[in-house]
Amino acid sequence: MWYADSHTHTEASEDSETPILQAVQAAAAKGLRFLTVTDHVEIVDFKEGAYDVAAEQSWHLMESFENPTDVRLLRGIELGEPAFDPALAERVLAAHPYDFVLASQHRVDDTRPDHYFIEYAAFSDREIEREMTRHFEETLRTVRWNGFDSLAHLTYPFRYLPEKWRQGDYRPWQGLIDDLLGLLAQNGKALEINTSGIRKGQGVTCPDRPLVTRFRELGGERITIGSDAHRPGETGADLDEGAAVARDAGFEEAVVYIARQPQSFAL
Ligand SMILES: [Zn+2]
Ligand SMILES: [Zn+2]
Repeated sequence: MWYADSHTHTEASEDSETPILQAVQAAAAKGLRFLTVTDHVEIVDFKEGAYDVAAEQSWHLMESFENPTDVRLLRGIELGEPAFDPALAERVLAAHPYDFVLASQHRVDDTRPDHYFIEYAAFSDREIEREMTRHFEETLRTVRWNGFDSLAHLTYPFRYLPEKWRQGDYRPWQGLIDDLLGLLAQNGKALEINTSGIRKGQGVTCPDRPLVTRFRELGGERITIGSDAHRPGETGADLDEGAAVARDAGFEEAVVYIARQPQSFAL
């Protein structure tokens, strides 16, 4: 089984109430060896004073935690939209010696909310296609920024689209996707296989097999696997399915970041 959950949230994230002790105990109960806590720091909200508190709270919780289990706790961060303000993103990361930096794209610009809050059922097909184009364009900007270790949940907004858009057909954006996956590979960065897609409206990992396979074809060498758990019951969820997707795409190893260095383990 795959034994490292590289994407999890605790009560330091606005959308989770999990005490770090419960997260680690849940990981131990599942037989995990590594648990990386990656609480949210959204660059947009950071300016408003909401998430700078969260970043410090998250770091303090991780740093002061007395771990009663054998699970190795790694101290990460899920940095949202770093390319919106690269200088601020770099200051956030310089504040603490993180083990792992996940970059994510939850919104297309700083005037729009997280896709989670958008009523896509009211959008026309053209509008949806345009919004997803913007999603991949902004993700490409994040990949160009390059100050992270792994790119989180590449197909995240699709889970909030009407059913017909959730069939795994990414042809309208294949050029952009190839550009960003190719650059990710060239830069030696990891692509995350996020298993929350399985339980949150997509039915498959996020991204799913064809895109993970495309990353491999374009020279990608590193994969991280994470549940994106926001509750203790989700810790370690479907990691083996994530590992199976990676193997099917041609990966024999996945990586765990410790002190920002990728450590490879056989899948
Ligand atoms: Zn996220
Ligand atoms: Zn997350």
